[in-house]
Amino acid sequence: MTNSTNHRVALVTGADRGIGLETARQLAQKGITVLVTARDPKKAEAAATELSKEGSDAHPLTLDVTQTDSIRSAVQQVEQRFGRLDILINDAGVMLEHEWGISTVITVSDETIRQTFETNFFGLVNVTRAFLPLLRKGPQGRIVNISSIMASLTLHADPHSVLYHSKPFAYDASKTAVNVFTIHLAYELRDTPIKVNSAHPGWVMTEIGSVGATMTVEEGARSGVELALLDEDGPSGGFFYQGEPLPW
Ligand code: NDP
Repeated sequence: MTNSTNHRVALVTGADRGIGLETARQLAQKGITVLVTARDPKKAEAAATELSKEGSDAHPLTLDVTQTDSIRSAVQQVEQRFGRLDILINDAGVMLEHEWGISTVITVSDETIRQTFETNFFGLVNVTRAFLPLLRKGPQGRIVNISSIMASLTLHADPHSVLYHSKPFAYDASKTAVNVFTIHLAYELRDTPIKVNSAHPGWVMTEIGSVGATMTVEEGARSGVELALLDEDGPSGGFFYQGEPLPW
């Protein structure tokens, strides 16, 4: 994949910590103006201040991906301030099945499934649809959906894959649904310059990565940043880990 780093405006959801904060940092280090969003305004402010102190053009913005009013307000503020959006990184996510291995597809509660989809799927879909008019105003919009290898049905169904035994059902299903959204949206936008891709960050040392993760956030942000900076000849409608395609 080839990249370009023209001056652009990027928005990252869930940018107050983890892979989101690091993705915002790496985009800002490329000279891109970054909207550092978080559901808690104080966390958005703190993260944007951290990046500003490093010399970045970073701006805090409150955005709870599960709240329609919050999404609407964020879109209005971006429109008033910048008039367009070039890069949307859908990073915000939850993993509520910390007891997985104990809880299974048969026993996981409806509430856990619903709450997981509320953030990981509906949140991502609604944020993307709301920002699409602003992405259409930019010359080469990029949408990066932070998915997971746990979305891969091919690997879950393969007895030789480690994912065959590893099934936090609600989380996996929500990420598979995200990948379906990526494919459908890329098709809808096929005649536009906008590219839509899913990224797997790797197994990263964050709250979601939890025990056993080995990758740093610096490495984990790489897949999404690469897709955010794709040139016009880059792919759309794909699922990638550090530039390599993953099986759906
Ligand atoms: P973290 O738990 O560190 O970060 C999750 C982020 O999502 C936080 O900023 C959190 O905000 C935010 N968030 C949660 N709910 C909402 C909401 N309703 N509105 C806005 N923001 C919200 O985890 P990671 O950095 O690891 O996760 C980032 C993404 O990477 C997720 O989508 C995750 O599924 C994905 N991923 C991570 C992997 C890993 O190994 N770490 C592997 C594969 C995928 P707050 O601080 O307010 O809680």
